[in-house]
Amino acid sequence: MSASPDTVRPDAGQGDPLLAVEDLVVRYDTPQGVVHAVDGVSLTVGRGETLGLVGESGCGKSTLGRAILRLIEPASGRIRLDGEDLSGKSRAALRPIRRKLQMVFQDPFGSLDPRWTVGQLLAEPLHVHGIGRRSERRDRVIDLLARVGLPADAASRHPHEFSGGQRQRIGIARALALSPALVVCDEPVSALDVSVQAQILNLLDDLQRDLGVAFLFISHDLSVVEHIADRVGVMYLGRIVETAPRAVLWRRPLHPYTRALFDAVPRMEPDRPAERRTRAALTGDLPSAFAPPAGCRFHTRCPLAVERCRHEAPSLRAVGDPDHLVACHLAEPPSKTDLA
Ligand code: SF4
Repeated sequence: MSASPDTVRPDAGQGDPLLAVEDLVVRYDTPQGVVHAVDGVSLTVGRGETLGLVGESGCGKSTLGRAILRLIEPASGRIRLDGEDLSGKSRAALRPIRRKLQMVFQDPFGSLDPRWTVGQLLAEPLHVHGIGRRSERRDRVIDLLARVGLPADAASRHPHEFSGGQRQRIGIARALALSPALVVCDEPVSALDVSVQAQILNLLDDLQRDLGVAFLFISHDLSVVEHIADRVGVMYLGRIVETAPRAVLWRRPLHPYTRALFDAVPRMEPDRPAERRTRAALTGDLPSAFAPPAGCRFHTRCPLAVERCRHEAPSLRAVGDPDHLVACHLAEPPSKTDLA
């Protein structure tokens, strides 16, 4: 089945998706010109699902996450959450919807007001949305702290009294205070030590299993995404170039850019003999988002590029597996030898 350009195939068979983003465009006007940060991205996230979004720094993935939350205003496109169209809604009209849609930031310290106690920080969203009496909010704070593995007395302390990992637990608790259906996690573990990263990823796994919350998990780190994602979208210069269930992508990445990302972490394909890998080393810098290359945006770095790539943008299309979409003119289903 062929998909429309830059479309991550809806999660077929799981009913209507929780989040549906259609042809989203985000541009910034700067004194140097227009930045084409996100260019026609479509994706879905199912209920209780984790969609991992990977790509190099500057590929537009964090901008996409913020635009979905309407922290950045998209230039065009649609965002539907639970069937409700968020596009064009005023801040006041968005307020009740924000209960369903929350964010965990890379730097929890920067997102937590240092003057407030943890109890105040966790109770604030409940207060803003008029949820519960004071005693009920206090109980909810204790419950949230327990859910993220912090003791009840953490409520009376301030963020600076906690380690980086504990502060991220507080950030997660705050994001969960309103029982959201979807949390956008923007590089939530990239500032943490590896051992602490694993603890936070396991916590997110547990919370998803217990609460049924969905995650859009943004990271530059494939090993982190491997740990947590059900499906994965790979972004390059404002566009999605490949998407697949995690196991399918890890077994057979098909886009030259995705292969290059894997190539940077060789240990990540233990099941694939080295001689069978068609390697496409990633060279050069990410082109400027002020003037993205015409045709396939990856053609300036792609060792497989042909003339067609320079003027014709490839659409996302199913290659082999119907859930495996690739935006590359040359992508082909794996041969029997590859599958052996
Ligand atoms: Fe490379 Fe061409 Fe495929 Fe783009 S379309 S990834 S330039 S081969």
